[in-house]
Amino acid sequence: PESITVQELANRMAEKGADLVKSLFKMGTAVTLNQPIDQDTAELLVEEFGHRIQRVSDADVEIGIEGDVDAPETLQQRAPVVTIMGHVDHGKTSLLDALRGTDVVAGESGGITQHIGAYQVTTKGGEVITFLDTPGHEAFSEMRARGANVTDIVILVVAADDGLMPQTIEAINHTKAAGVPMIVAINKCDKPEANPQKVRERLLEHEIVVEDMGGEVQDVQVSALKKTGLDELIEKILLQAEVMELSANPDRAAEGNVIEAQLDKGRGAVATVLVRKGVLKVGDTFVIGAESGKVRALVNDKGQNVKTAGPSTPVEVLGLSGVPRAGDQLTVVENEARAREVAAYRQEQATKKRTTSAPTSFEHMFSALN
Ligand code: GDP
Ligand code: MG
Repeated sequence: PESITVQELANRMAEKGADLVKSLFKMGTAVTLNQPIDQDTAELLVEEFGHRIQRVSDADVEIGIEGDVDAPETLQQRAPVVTIMGHVDHGKTSLLDALRGTDVVAGESGGITQHIGAYQVTTKGGEVITFLDTPGHEAFSEMRARGANVTDIVILVVAADDGLMPQTIEAINHTKAAGVPMIVAINKCDKPEANPQKVRERLLEHEIVVEDMGGEVQDVQVSALKKTGLDELIEKILLQAEVMELSANPDRAAEGNVIEAQLDKGRGAVATVLVRKGVLKVGDTFVIGAESGKVRALVNDKGQNVKTAGPSTPVEVLGLSGVPRAGDQLTVVENEARAREVAAYRQEQATKKRTTSAPTSFEHMFSALN
């Protein structure tokens, strides 16, 4: 029953989905990007593309509790989840703020923008993009180390007056290791000493070939300060998302990942969760990490109480037994008995992981390759 879609596998290998489809066709299998392929075929492809595969024993494969694959016909389009990375002072925070300012809904709703670790922007065209408001490769790699590949697209910010710096290169390496596609935002283009062409050239040394240089990585010149190039950046994010055919089954028990969590004086333990599948609802019983709880309230990024949150939506969850860690998985279960069962299963898995340090599922197996 274990399978992975062609696109997911392509993302993990940082290859183009279309190339995988071509390869499969040569092997005599006609599939589309969203179709799942079995483990044997996936392994063949991984080898074909010259990537290393890390085998896990069947006993370690998690089945039935989480990480199960939804049937293709249940999948619906979902918003892309975007993380901004780059060297310190290259303008990550400024760009996040500038992008947030393009949201056409924020003004209408009158909601006070809250810092909950992630926010959504509705574009002029009505599309939604989710930005993780936790820039920096540390948050990114910590989440990944905990098995949470929540980011669909990375925006690499490079200041045009400063060029490639150590943390830029670290960000490139993290992005490659995660197999996540990248869009390069060349920032501070308002500065007289800006040299965007030099940035493009230096990127070649790290096998990042932008479109202007004949490659396929999208790049865009922006100024977070003057708010120029933002529409183009948004367009490129949407284009990348379209190619990836991002989807999720909204009609199932919700799963998500903790983006950040803290103990709040008035509200108790609060976690910002990015919902990945299903719809999280007030009243749902859940396991979060090895903690459990029942959703008492949901608060969106505009500070409004909401009853539900669907795929790719970040939402504050109240009603937790304790404070979970970033990257922890939230899984909605049918009742408290099941919650205890899942929590026990997770504790067992965590112990196993500590003793073997091996990947514990088919999904994780692929996140371990490079
Ligand atoms: P971060 O460390 O990557 O989050 O960078 P910040 O967003 O904090 O920006 C660092 C500095 O660069 C601040 O003084 C910003 O005002 C400035 N800055 C950011 N974007 C731009 C830009 O597009 N043009 C100019 N001239 N300055 C910028
Ligand atoms: Mg910053």
